[in-house]
Amino acid sequence: MNINVAPTNLPPSEKWVPYRHPQPKESPPELVVPNAIPSDERIWVPVEENVWFRPLLMCTSRGYWMNLLKVRKSGVLSRHRHPLPVHGFVLKGEWRYLEHDWVATEGGYVYEAPGETHTLVVDPHVEEMITLFQVNGAMIYVDPDGKTTGFDDVFTRIDKCRAHYSVNGLGVDYIDQFIR
Ligand code: FE
Repeated sequence: MNINVAPTNLPPSEKWVPYRHPQPKESPPELVVPNAIPSDERIWVPVEENVWFRPLLMCTSRGYWMNLLKVRKSGVLSRHRHPLPVHGFVLKGEWRYLEHDWVATEGGYVYEAPGETHTLVVDPHVEEMITLFQVNGAMIYVDPDGKTTGFDDVFTRIDKCRAHYSVNGLGVDYIDQFIR
């Protein structure tokens, strides 16, 4: 039988040898966020009543953001349109869109297509939901007929973080660590 096992007197397998060269000069620094679900409540940035987000990566060079969205019961994330796709992973609780008949539950993955307009709600029986979302491009807030009433993009979200952190003790620069 030919079992391919490296003899112990030879150098360790190259599998465990780290890459020997510098990373590309233009490649931004990696980002590791311990306690992504924060114990410090000040990190949650309020968006509207019973709705908060926690920034993880604010990608200004590609125009998207990674964040945790937290909504407490009877909370509504205002009706909005996405020009680009959204990816979500439900970490806690459950939620739904008024425009669809499915419910996103803990452990579930959600893809929303470009062009989608929806209204995220957390029903009264759910204490709290937390979902990881990648939001590309923008959220364009609209009335029930699709008329634009406002927008968020990675830059307005950064502004909201700065406004919140500048008055709650974390400091106006707290958001800078999440920007790439
Ligand atoms: Fe959305």
